[in-house]
Amino acid sequence: MKHLMKIEGLNTVFHTEEGKVTAVDKVSFQVREGETVCIVGESGCGKSVTAMSIMGLVEAPGGQVNGGRIDFAGEDLLRLDKNTLRAIRGNEIAMIFQEPMSSLNPVMKIGEQIMEPLMVHMKLTKKQARIRAIELITQVGIARPEQIFGSYPHELSGGMLQRIMIAIAVSCNPKLLIADEPTTALDVTIQAQILDMLREFKESGGMSILLITHDLGVVAEMADYVIVMYSGQIVEEGGVVELFNHPKHPYTRGLLKSKPVVGQRLEELYSIPGQVPNPLTLEPSCYFHDRCEHCMPVCRSRQPLLKELGGGQKTACWLYEEAEVHV
Ligand code: SF4
Repeated sequence: MKHLMKIEGLNTVFHTEEGKVTAVDKVSFQVREGETVCIVGESGCGKSVTAMSIMGLVEAPGGQVNGGRIDFAGEDLLRLDKNTLRAIRGNEIAMIFQEPMSSLNPVMKIGEQIMEPLMVHMKLTKKQARIRAIELITQVGIARPEQIFGSYPHELSGGMLQRIMIAIAVSCNPKLLIADEPTTALDVTIQAQILDMLREFKESGGMSILLITHDLGVVAEMADYVIVMYSGQIVEEGGVVELFNHPKHPYTRGLLKSKPVVGQRLEELYSIPGQVPNPLTLEPSCYFHDRCEHCMPVCRSRQPLLKELGGGQKTACWLYEEAEVHV
């Protein structure tokens, strides 16, 4: 499969009063045409900042993408001027967020918000955009589309709003849809419906999806390829079957072990001990070392690099280096 987007050495920092935080640390990966790539990890691991960096939504003076390349359909997104990037955003690359209420305009009717990208990017007339908007509301499984068209966001439930966000996102037939925790705020039944819908749009429109989630159940259902992030870095990646069946990195293994199974009692639930380290105090080391039961002296003083382990799987862990580093 041909790659649609290739990210190389992406680095994103935030300048805070306490010091500089590297939220995304030399991250490289690609999304192929028609593929779903899931980025998984705990909160604060850099998943969402990676997505924001791709969308050009990290803004100075606080935040800054200060290194790397994002090759999308032959262009480096990091070197495009604002207008060109805006034309790509919402058209060729669309994004949906966890909280639809924060992305929708509360004083604008739903229909007008769906029509806007259709008129701006697809150059439809007002009449054509209205017809298409009603079709899209129907396509995302909402009854009474004419009535919803004239409603305001506060009149709709969370599940309906997320469907509307999907309608807006797919309205211009994007090549890439970035979905940042799109189902986290929804109950399980609605979550399954939203995931089904994303899959249907992907299959019918041939788009690729970059899905950000902390939920391994969602990953198992949706992903072709999985990227595991920890403290701003990729610590493991690979095809979904390989990664679930043969996780290599102790963090990935911990995440999989924490996944609840049906019938499990609350007291039997596993959680990885400790917490994600403070990004202001990171030293050159494996950032997971304080939480890792396999930690060796080398882990505290040298940073492991991502290494190919065969079968397309890569991991950054000293356990997979030659014996001489284990000193
Ligand atoms: Fe654990 Fe060391 Fe591997 Fe880090 S590098 S995950 S501390 S074994």
